[in-house]
Amino acid sequence: MTDFTMKTDADGVAIITWDVQGKSMNVMTLEAWPVLDGLIDDALADDAVKGIVVTSGKDTFAGGMDLNVIAKMKESAGDNPAKGLFDGLMESHAILRKIERAGMDPKTNKGGKPIAAALPGTALGIGLEIPLACHRIFAADNPKAKIGLPEIMVGIFPGMGGTTRLSRKLGAMGASPLLLEGKLNDPKKAKAAGVVDEVVPADELLAAAKAWVLSEPKIVKPWDEKGYKMPGGAPYHPAGFMTFVGASAMVNGKTQGAFPAAKALLSAVYEGALVPFDTALKIEARWFTNVLMNPSSSAMIRSLFINKEALEKGANRPAIADQKVQKVGVIGAGMMGAGIALVSALAGIQVVLIDNTQEAADKGKAYTTAHLDKGIARKKTTPEKKETVLGLINATTDYAALAGCDLIVEAVFEDVSVKAEVTKKVQAVVGPDCIFATNTSTLPITELAKASNDAEKFIGIHFFSPVDKMLLVEIIKGKKTGEVAVAKALDFVRQIRKTPIVVNDERFFYANRCIIPYINEGIRMVKEGVEPALIENAAKLLGMPLGPLQLVDETSVDLGVKIAKATRAAMGDDYPDGEVDEVLFWMFDQKRLGRKSNSGFYEYDAKGKRTGLWDGLAAQYPVADDQPDLTTVQHRLMFAQVLEAVRALEENVLEDIREGDVGAILGWGFAPWSGGPFSWLDIIGAPYAAERCDQLAEEFGARFTTPALLREMADKNQEFYKRFAATAKAA
Ligand code: NAD
Repeated sequence: MTDFTMKTDADGVAIITWDVQGKSMNVMTLEAWPVLDGLIDDALADDAVKGIVVTSGKDTFAGGMDLNVIAKMKESAGDNPAKGLFDGLMESHAILRKIERAGMDPKTNKGGKPIAAALPGTALGIGLEIPLACHRIFAADNPKAKIGLPEIMVGIFPGMGGTTRLSRKLGAMGASPLLLEGKLNDPKKAKAAGVVDEVVPADELLAAAKAWVLSEPKIVKPWDEKGYKMPGGAPYHPAGFMTFVGASAMVNGKTQGAFPAAKALLSAVYEGALVPFDTALKIEARWFTNVLMNPSSSAMIRSLFINKEALEKGANRPAIADQKVQKVGVIGAGMMGAGIALVSALAGIQVVLIDNTQEAADKGKAYTTAHLDKGIARKKTTPEKKETVLGLINATTDYAALAGCDLIVEAVFEDVSVKAEVTKKVQAVVGPDCIFATNTSTLPITELAKASNDAEKFIGIHFFSPVDKMLLVEIIKGKKTGEVAVAKALDFVRQIRKTPIVVNDERFFYANRCIIPYINEGIRMVKEGVEPALIENAAKLLGMPLGPLQLVDETSVDLGVKIAKATRAAMGDDYPDGEVDEVLFWMFDQKRLGRKSNSGFYEYDAKGKRTGLWDGLAAQYPVADDQPDLTTVQHRLMFAQVLEAVRALEENVLEDIREGDVGAILGWGFAPWSGGPFSWLDIIGAPYAAERCDQLAEEFGARFTTPALLREMADKNQEFYKRFAATAKAA
């Protein structure tokens, strides 16, 4: 059974059906392309066929190209991969162009057979690029369907004609959110945006498409007609000029030039708009080749798609029976507990939300109410759904309500004795099989487990704030944590649709362990007299979402002070961050606590909007006359995080580099273009990384000392994704 099949009905309409066997959603493979090509040839050559409808045998059309294929295209493209890729892309263009021209006379545009796309549901990536080559797109009125070109989200761009066709169909302005932000729409919105042509009831989809095909419609595309003008104007038209200047500024503002795909996409649209359509496709193929040849694109696809999905599907889950959560007890209804209750109830899990007072418990539940009200206002949810979700949350002070819970997530104050007391109170009520998880961000799991009557069933489930927005959940195994607890935590994370990593128990686990040195390096530079704007901009140009000083403001100076004091107490003479503390404690004394006090390393207006870096900092920490170059500042900020990730791997906190990379991007926004810390090291190469660390260590201190693992890999010229391929199975 092939992915595409064709049947011609009595009316003379050939129906090409895409239906990949054994998959819930169609994805395009390299093998399927020639099959589609052959069917189009047959239909165009067959006199009995009047027109064609391309549709799907599933309730969706297609999820896109198999990204595993894209990741491997470069490797399989031969000795001259750029040429191999370009030639391959041009072959795909030829197939789609054949659909678009459909046998028309090249000079007169006469003849040809109408081809309609009939989309029963979701159509993404190549699943929209094929319809865009057809003459009319029909979509079923299926509000759950998502239609769009999300390629930019994984570091590539629509390179099978989607960029060129959509920008010519809608104009650069209309196409820009769809191409540059990967915005997805339901069918009605896709029609309003001009992406699809008709939205019809699902049971009339095929009939509507067929009727159109048989109506002898005009099929020539505007861009194949004489005198075509791009909607909104091409680049040298006064209106078009404004659009392109604006888009260019927007892309650079958003990406800081750190993401190659967005820039390449814009170049393909701009240059393509100046030439005839077929040349534009060639330009698109060249830019797409350029992006695919950039190591950033394969690293992003590997981390943000292939490995993220592998982890979500349980790549590191112990092979034991399903541990799906039925009833969860959330203890502590503060900022984190309220968020955990929300995401659990949204997943249909029964929740008992406990706090010291009924008022505090109710306040925690009110967070869910507010979230759902916002959803209703934005038409993302309904009053009925609100009632159902709220009905799942029992906000109470009564621990007895926890009876029957199969998972507890404790999110009370960060205090060992408070947590110990809660653990005991909970365990007096729940059954022996209940798994107890703590959301602590800093306290060792193994220590906290001592308060439990069964350390095997005790685990860390570390959420990030805000819980409903952050995609990562860090699961931490204490020394005695058993397999059932790990499976339970992973199944819970899957239920609430987040991405898990599983790490071992060491100070600050994984994410905080890496992000703290990043913040500290930024503060240390302030102490040295590095211009704060240089520090912040260097971070932004690396693709970090927040500079280190802004990050302190967001997480608050007092939290930094608290962590610094606790770390110093635990490490004693080995504590390395005295210089950092001096700045941090001084800020604390000035009562500049960050966003929460509307004053920190940044200034804020009355509405809490950042208005710029705080001038007053220079009075205490004067800016030095000699400033370091940008690369030095960037390398300090980058290696501060990356070396910590390598140490986490050396110390077996991380067991799988895929988790290190995915966790870094989703947990703290580590330069997504790089694919994560280990991917970044593979891009720059271990020998260069080790050499650079030696220089940084000599100039700035022992914290940059090359870890033994990296030294060894440099000596052997190894790559992380090759050396650790056995654990990084899908990498
Ligand atoms: P919070 O102060 O907002 O909430 C804590 C809640 O626990 C309060 O409502 C308090 O009344 C309640 N509480 C205290 N003792 C209790 C008891 N004995 N029984 C029942 N309820 C009790 O704190 P938070 O920011 O939500 O943090 C909670 C936990 O999550 C901490 O361990 C923290 O380290 C961790 N954490 C916080 C963040 C963050 O960004 N805030 C991120 C990850 C993890």
